[in-house]
Amino acid sequence: MTTNIIKKWLIGCIAFVALVGCNSEQKQDTNANAQQQKQYQWKLVTSWPKNFPGLGLGPETFAKYVNEMSAGRLTVKVYGAGELVPGFEVFDAVSQGTADMGHSGAYYWKGKMPAAPIFSAIPFGMTATEFNAWLHFGGGLEMWQALYKPFGVVPMAGGNSGAQFAGWFKKEINSVEDLKGLKMRIPGLGGEVLKRAGAIPVNLTGGEIFSSLQSGAIDASEWVGPYNDLAFGFHQAAEYYYSSVWHETGTNLEFLVNEKALNSLPEDLQKIVEVAARAVNQNMLDEYNARNNNALQTLINKHNVQVKQFPVDVMLALKNYTKEVIEEKANADETFAKVWASYSEFLTNARQYNDLTMKAYYENR
Ligand code: CA
Repeated sequence: MTTNIIKKWLIGCIAFVALVGCNSEQKQDTNANAQQQKQYQWKLVTSWPKNFPGLGLGPETFAKYVNEMSAGRLTVKVYGAGELVPGFEVFDAVSQGTADMGHSGAYYWKGKMPAAPIFSAIPFGMTATEFNAWLHFGGGLEMWQALYKPFGVVPMAGGNSGAQFAGWFKKEINSVEDLKGLKMRIPGLGGEVLKRAGAIPVNLTGGEIFSSLQSGAIDASEWVGPYNDLAFGFHQAAEYYYSSVWHETGTNLEFLVNEKALNSLPEDLQKIVEVAARAVNQNMLDEYNARNNNALQTLINKHNVQVKQFPVDVMLALKNYTKEVIEEKANADETFAKVWASYSEFLTNARQYNDLTMKAYYENR
């Protein structure tokens, strides 16, 4: 059903683009016609292994959509992490034009731009639906574009994982005291928050987590959620699976486009890039929502995984430490403060709205 809807939508998009193309063609001279026929081949570098489930399929789907919508006038070749550039050099590669596009997560660039993590994941932040609303209709995208503009990079939303699980723990977390000395793989601001609670955040790539958990080099790890976590087999290395949502409440991924490369495309192809990215953004969230449900059932029923929630006092402590971390970042960086003001205002309103609607509905359905 979902596939059919996307297909219909894509056909609609193609028809629209073709229509716009026809109207403008009447006024175009032969040079413009030549531009219409020109073929473009783009390179897209990613921070994920090639064809990695969920995250890594986003750019592959994007390449497929663009190829189909442009009838082959724009083709996009996707490179996994390390194939053309290392995963953490995706932004620089797009900025410098080594690649025309990238697919990654904004929190990786916090060393370059302290405000960048707001465009991927903030502890106790917005849900995927709220984030997409803020981004596309609440002024978020304009701020994101302004942030990357000095680097000649145009950002677009590139998929959302939805709310992520707190992760896998080798021992139960019954109090804030249990977080002290806990060695946990958790990147980004979540790690900074956990550090304040006395834990020791560790940064490991996805491929290193399983063996580190199994050997006891780390006591806990977050990754994404049931769909991706089941694939890694983390249930074989840690006993307790905490479903508490706190550190990545609706993680947004990104498409990065080299500004010059984008502007060199005819207008219809530029629109195809934008619309394909927007389609992938929704598609990924839909896929996570569907597959997480099924994978959770498998973890509980087939692998007897114990799914738990952090106690209320642990959640409160994490929330208070989050406020401290965000306040410090806003004081240290003017742009962070400006983006955060917009984000937090939207979040405050969304919270009130959802308390009155979805929160009550979730409890009553
Ligand atoms: Ca994660």
